Amino acid sequence: MIQDITERKHAEDQIRQLANYDSLTGLPNRRFFRDQFGSALERARTSGTAVGVLFIDLDRFKQINDTLGHQVGDQLLREVAKRLYQCVRDNDTVARAAERAGPSQGVRPPSIGSATRSLAAGSQSAPTPANLNSVARLGGDEFTILLTDVSEPSVIEAVAQRILETMRKPFTFSGHELFVTASIGLAGYPADGSDVDTLLRKADIAMYAVKDSGRNGVLRFSSAMNTATAERWRLETALHRALERQELVLYYQPKVNVVSGQIVGAEALMRWKRGGELVPPAEFITVAEESGLIVPITEWAVREVCEQMVRWADQGHPLVPVSVNISGRHIQRANLIEPVQAALHGFKLDPRLLELELTETVLMHNLSATLPLLQALKDLGVSISVDDFGTGYSSLSYLKRLPIDTLKIDRSFVRELETSSDNAAIVAAIIAMSKSLKLKVVAEGVETQGQMTRLFDQGCQLMQGFLFSPAVPGDDFPAMLKASASQSHWRIDFGPRAHNKGAVQETSDGHANGQHFGALETEMVGPPRPSAQPQSTERDAEHVSEQPNQKDRALRWANRFIGRDS
Ligand code: C2E
Ligand code: CA
Ligand code: CA
Repeated sequence: MIQDITERKHAEDQIRQLANYDSLTGLPNRRFFRDQFGSALERARTSGTAVGVLFIDLDRFKQINDTLGHQVGDQLLREVAKRLYQCVRDNDTVARAAERAGPSQGVRPPSIGSATRSLAAGSQSAPTPANLNSVARLGGDEFTILLTDVSEPSVIEAVAQRILETMRKPFTFSGHELFVTASIGLAGYPADGSDVDTLLRKADIAMYAVKDSGRNGVLRFSSAMNTATAERWRLETALHRALERQELVLYYQPKVNVVSGQIVGAEALMRWKRGGELVPPAEFITVAEESGLIVPITEWAVREVCEQMVRWADQGHPLVPVSVNISGRHIQRANLIEPVQAALHGFKLDPRLLELELTETVLMHNLSATLPLLQALKDLGVSISVDDFGTGYSSLSYLKRLPIDTLKIDRSFVRELETSSDNAAIVAAIIAMSKSLKLKVVAEGVETQGQMTRLFDQGCQLMQGFLFSPAVPGDDFPAMLKASASQSHWRIDFGPRAHNKGAVQETSDGHANGQHFGALETEMVGPPRPSAQPQSTERDAEHVSEQPNQKDRALRWANRFIGRDS
């Protein structure tokens, strides 16, 4: 019976240990820390004392982990845990407070080391949530320290300073010296809040304020701190993890040739599967760009697209070229040629199946840098599309110098195509430009039959937009590809308009739209001539008031182009 009880007690201890302690460092985990924090606040309320919380995050831990390996990372975390614990124990005020609370409630001896060792320690004296001055590991490289019975706020800051100091000594692992710094945020009861969540959040915000001002420091929460900064950093951290945990996915939007009604290509668009949500790129690409994460993300996207095509091929599906969006920030920061070459080579993929989309503004920005890059990509055999075309006002002479294959008409022009003669003029100019340069032209964001007809009438056959399909998961794309041939509404209806071919078209606002050139003509008949002074419709005026300069410039650009080249 005695053995039975001993065994059961041991099992109970083990369970408690696993539930409350972090197995890597032996420190209390997030859950236990929250319990401790909650009880500390309760006690402080009755005794009228203060409580402080320190939120500690190692600087550039991810980098260390990536370059030196997880084993070194783990070792570092254990070592940091030890030092943090030491700091709290050695602090006089803190130590005295611990003593006052009695030996059984004193700071728990650290059980730094392997999980088994900490299990043994846990079975000796199972700490209660009433514990004081706890060091905990919330996860990753995030630690917290709880300071109870604080007589004055300066005590908390003193502990924080002490932590920064102990971190200054290098960490030594297998003969290598490693220098690590930390960012620490502080918050205190009752000054900053009275519940666990509020205080933790404020300490977290303060910690991010430290990161933002150059890391390696301590700040106390103040209401002037930018919560947006903290959110941005949170997002960045989460995005780091997303890449590791393979939460990023690519969806595929078809590009359709409206003459055949068939899918002739696809654009890979990124999504982030975050919890049960599908986060669109608008919410994370900027953060990825600003943090440099865009580099591994782009490299992943290129690889993933190649791998997806191989998967499709292995399943016996026909392949169409797929494009990947390349951010300007990637080009500024990193090599693009190598990952593209490596992916093509690694997956033994025909380079003609891979297309890269770069925005017009990025290409325009630094011609001397982009020109050799584009040339090198072309040498690999991949195609280049100029994305969001029309927003950068490239001149014809400029475009002539670029080794590109496709212009993608920016969605903003397509959106207003039916209601704005200005936009119709810009679209016409882009199509004309693509023809004279013998480039393919794809219209983006086609949502209505009316837009489709207009675009077709102006000489554009390749379209992409919700009219056909939004981006779909990779698994669903082959079925769509197969079905596309029989989607009659994806095909332009030639019927009545065949008679109009070549005739002067009337625009909806009654302006002559110049010569018509049908899509089936291979030779360019001549660029359409929009009215020199296009009148604005009501919706037009709205759009103009949104972006007066952009619209004006685009229109001047279109007119200039047509004037010069017709
Ligand atoms: P983008 O390259 O111009 O991509 C086209 C965007 O228009 C996509 O939004 C697409 O879902 C949306 N779209 C397509 N058809 C229609 C339509 O008919 N109507 C409307 N209103 N929208 C349509 P998404 O997927 O949210 O992507 C937004 C932007 O995020 C992209 O603009 C691109 O700049 C960026 N992005 C997406 N994926 C990646 C990626 O893998 N890498 C990088 N660097 N950027 C990406
Ligand atoms: Ca694009
Ligand atoms: Ca675009």
